[in-house]
Amino acid sequence: MTDVPSIQLNDGNSIPQLGFGVFQIPPEETAEATRVALELGYRHIDTAEMYGNEREVGEALRASGLDRGEVFVTSKLNNGYHRPDDARRAFDQTLSELGFDYVDLFLIHWPLPTLYDGDYVSTWKTLEEFKADGRARSIGVSNFEVDHLERLAAETDVVPAVNQIELHPYLLNEEVRSYGEEHGIATEAWSPLKQGEVLRDPVIVEIAERAARTPAQVVLRWHVQRGNIVFPKSTTPERIRENFELFDFELEPGDIERINGLDRGEAGRNGPHPDRMAYTG
Ligand code: NAD
Repeated sequence: MTDVPSIQLNDGNSIPQLGFGVFQIPPEETAEATRVALELGYRHIDTAEMYGNEREVGEALRASGLDRGEVFVTSKLNNGYHRPDDARRAFDQTLSELGFDYVDLFLIHWPLPTLYDGDYVSTWKTLEEFKADGRARSIGVSNFEVDHLERLAAETDVVPAVNQIELHPYLLNEEVRSYGEEHGIATEAWSPLKQGEVLRDPVIVEIAERAARTPAQVVLRWHVQRGNIVFPKSTTPERIRENFELFDFELEPGDIERINGLDRGEAGRNGPHPDRMAYTG
């Protein structure tokens, strides 16, 4: 097994480039899925208040026998709690659910520009408090568009360590990704497999056959070679294993280019557009 590379963040911390995502895993299945992932070698788990399974992630980590410091854990602020006092309470609750005294990374889950009078700036300043008091080792954002990032740059002091955005072969999200690259914001790619849809693409299937790898490994390896941080989700042990075996082969530059060519722009988007997302649960 080859080691998972680390990506250095703009605050000096580092994050394993490959992790395990637990979105849509019911709480009663989360501890077991996370246990399998940790046993196979994953050392990075991506959860969120809105996933309703932080408690089970914490339980799995404690049951694994690993030290807290060996596993990088991310959570995210619930959309309903953007006002500073609510965000403070919600963050306390996240730590209590996880049973930790810190998280490695805490994100604003969505910018929600149509809610809270368009004010995600005071929410971000509240996350700055969590970083200052050490309870969030790193802070970042999710689903922020370039104009949202520019506004944070103009009105606040801390540059987000990461921006977690929808990104897969059908939505390269290149404008947001390259803004991050230029400004020291690492890009995390959510739904890296487009929830399985891109695995049937004939180009992916053909590259996989030639490389004697699975379509999921080809797509995840494409992310890794482009520098994206990924955390595919699965509850099937064999797939969890397969998604971890990415570091003993390489795609040729021509294959990377062919996969880049699958971009469908906005038509390829799976989730809501961040400018319009207004769900608060
Ligand atoms: P994903 O792209 O990781 O796809 C997961 C699905 O792909 C699985 O349910 C399964 O059907 C299929 N799959 C996984 N591995 C496979 C394999 N080896 N072979 C065949 N099929 C396979 O989708 P996701 O769960 O939406 O995204 C991953 C993670 O990203 C989430 O768990 C979560 O942590 C994060 N996320 C964040 C946001 C956000 O707004 N910040 C939104 C969605 C997801």
